[in-house]
Amino acid sequence: MKAPAKSSGSSSPAVSTPAPSAASDPGRKSGEREGFDLFSLLAEHEHEQVSVYYDPSTGYRGIIAIHSTVLGPALGGTRFWNYQSDRDALIDALRLARGMTYKAAVAGLNLGGGKGVIIGDNRTTRREALFRAHGRHVESLKGRYITAEDVGTSTADMEYIKAETNHVTGLIGRSGDPSPVTAYGVYRGIKACVHYRSGSDGLSGKAVALQGCGSVGYHLAKLLHAEGASITCTDIDPQRVKRVVEDCAAKAVAPDAIYDVPASIFAPCALGAVINDDTVQRLQVEIVAGAANNQLAEDRHGDLLERRGITYAPDYVINGGGLINVNAELHGWAPERARSKAGEIYDTLLRVFEIAREEGCPSYRAADRLAEQRIAAIAKVRRNFV
Ligand code: NAD
Repeated sequence: MKAPAKSSGSSSPAVSTPAPSAASDPGRKSGEREGFDLFSLLAEHEHEQVSVYYDPSTGYRGIIAIHSTVLGPALGGTRFWNYQSDRDALIDALRLARGMTYKAAVAGLNLGGGKGVIIGDNRTTRREALFRAHGRHVESLKGRYITAEDVGTSTADMEYIKAETNHVTGLIGRSGDPSPVTAYGVYRGIKACVHYRSGSDGLSGKAVALQGCGSVGYHLAKLLHAEGASITCTDIDPQRVKRVVEDCAAKAVAPDAIYDVPASIFAPCALGAVINDDTVQRLQVEIVAGAANNQLAEDRHGDLLERRGITYAPDYVINGGGLINVNAELHGWAPERARSKAGEIYDTLLRVFEIAREEGCPSYRAADRLAEQRIAAIAKVRRNFV
């Protein structure tokens, strides 16, 4: 299997153009239309199934990608986005679904990976019929796919979906804000990185450069401060910086200066692609460990971190707390159980570093191996009819 790929969400305005039909162009064979080679894409992204549903009455155009159900039902949010083309939408769904398989596998959850996309303007106010159409699409898969919130959707949209299917999570009044669980998992992950480098996981006196003082960043800062770490933080929102400075005795720096702060740990909790050609050379830290998704602009930046002797906690391992929280809602776990499961990220990361050492590969590749090992082992156990 290949490494989980990154989201390719584009911000350009969309006009989704259906591929021309073979009937309208008899010279072309099916599957060779305008580069829209569907089955090659499925093969390349190693997917089990893709479901496409169009509802003319609402204008709903949705794709559900199911990457793997080896470990359990494919779970992944629904992204509502104005894709430039149907192909872009499909590729985004395929990439994101595969990422979910890996994330659930390393988190030790009995979930597979999937993703939904709805093509259109996510600012629309005509949401009920649209999301109910999506709910019917989800229901048609009979539990092979479970949906949740993602970019462009809200808990209120999930309630519309719920009217048509039970295969939806992240409902109003249920598991709630996942950030405290995510932050706890990141905190435990930081401790594992410190332990890996020094043999002891105490954070007292450790300097942390925190990028992003939002939901996860704030909760993480509280945990770090409580253990005696010193924090230098940044955010583009001054109010959010103020809260961390006041509540956690942190020092603030300008957003771009965070990469130059000498510290033990850089904790990215804002954006993706923050480890790139520019920043990878500037970092003056021993560890990169934070909540942001898709931290490496490209895989080779993970290799560059390795070459610089910087320990990198693969993002989808250390930020698995959000998915653990969703899983808790699905199975009716008490909050303590979700927190305890997120705490296991500590051991998972140590195992990732062990694989990296054994196999002489960077940690981001070792994380993929760990996920693939678990999927392969469970696939073998479940190969017979019972
Ligand atoms: P959030 O929106 O609450 O916080 C993000 C913060 O980053 C905001 O305060 C924003 O102002 C700040 N920010 C944006 N651009 C910045 C920049 N250039 N420099 C500095 N700060 C900047 O989001 P969150 O829920 O705290 O999530 C943080 C990251 O973790 C995101 O990448 C998210 O995808 C990822 N993540 C979150 C969860 C979760 O449970 N919330 C789970 C897994 C992954």
